Amino acid sequence: MPFLSETLSRVKPSPTVAVTQLARDLKAQGRDIISLGAGEPDFDTPDNIKAAAIAAIEAGKTKYTAPDGIPELKEAVCAKFRRENGLEYTPAQISVSTGGKQVLYNALMATLNPGDEVVIPAPFWVSYPDIVRLGGGEPVIVEGERQLGFKITPEALEAAITPKTKWFIFNSPSNPTGAGYSRAELKALTVVLMRHPHVWVMTDDMYEHLAYDGFEFVTPAQVEPGLYDRTLTCNGVSKAYAMTGWRIGYAGGPEHLIAAMRKIQGQSTTNPCSISQWAAVEALNGPQDFLAERSAAFKRRRDLVVDGLNACPGISCAVPEGAFYVYPSVADCIGKVTQAGTRITDDETFCTALLEEQGVAVVFGAAFGLSPNFRVSYAASDEMLTEACARIRRFCEGLK
Ligand code: PLP
Repeated sequence: MPFLSETLSRVKPSPTVAVTQLARDLKAQGRDIISLGAGEPDFDTPDNIKAAAIAAIEAGKTKYTAPDGIPELKEAVCAKFRRENGLEYTPAQISVSTGGKQVLYNALMATLNPGDEVVIPAPFWVSYPDIVRLGGGEPVIVEGERQLGFKITPEALEAAITPKTKWFIFNSPSNPTGAGYSRAELKALTVVLMRHPHVWVMTDDMYEHLAYDGFEFVTPAQVEPGLYDRTLTCNGVSKAYAMTGWRIGYAGGPEHLIAAMRKIQGQSTTNPCSISQWAAVEALNGPQDFLAERSAAFKRRRDLVVDGLNACPGISCAVPEGAFYVYPSVADCIGKVTQAGTRITDDETFCTALLEEQGVAVVFGAAFGLSPNFRVSYAASDEMLTEACARIRRFCEGLK
């Protein structure tokens, strides 16, 4: 009898974590490494949020809580959905979990049966297909169109839906491309979804507040209220409030789904960290003006990186609407040989050679389901990004 579960063999370790770890190891060996692999803001958690956590500790709010969130946080989430998304949820329709990732995990574990299909646009956040596989489901990948900034068309969505489709996972602005769907683009997808009442929508709005050039963020149940009863609107404080380590995510959806998710959570992590929940109450109810300031800094960095990458021979990089990622193509580098003599056969060999020869860590596109590309996280200082672009340019100029 094998010791490890069969399910585990269907799941891959996270390549983004692997790249970040490799960069750390090389740094520890004394190598000069610029790591643009991790998907987390380099800003600190705002002081008012830290103070709320300290106050919670001092007030003894350090015990188990209700499994899917304290009432104060559920109220704050309801207010956020009303204020920012025009969505009405009651506290019984809210689930708070240990990071946005566990929200998605709970929902998929609570609903997937063997053979259920989940439609996922590519390139995708690496965890979607693996969580689906963990839950016994089958990811069905729909490729985004390069000329549409990696977004999928309504026709492609229609073609991917079968009687076995349980969920459509939607993520805008996207990790790894930064692509954001306009209201009209999302509306066109919802028209398809309205034709298939058995398909549920899991929208991952984690990068809502990281959008540039006046991009209007919209979410499916807002654009098409007819989808409200079969949509799980997922979000979290990790990216917007620079709180990746606090581990708080949340979702709004139909009560019976929220109750099913609560059951999974009750038998896994019991409840999200009590102190982090109080910090998240302050994040959502407190001052929001710093979001615009941080967004302006990210926009400046996006422009710096897009310009820097487009100056590299063999690389072409689109300008995305949001998040803190760009997803340049290396199609014109394939088949070339690096100065150290490595032949570039795909995006993985490109990224490995770039790390070895120029000390820049980025994540290869195959990990996200669309090649030949790589993902740059520009949540780093302007100086670091400028130096990284200079090194990538040197690397590309050295290709023969
Ligand atoms: N969704 C997307 C698209 C992400 O990029 C991430 C983190 O990288 C998450 C969800 C998970 O967020 P959290 O750190 O809150 O679990």
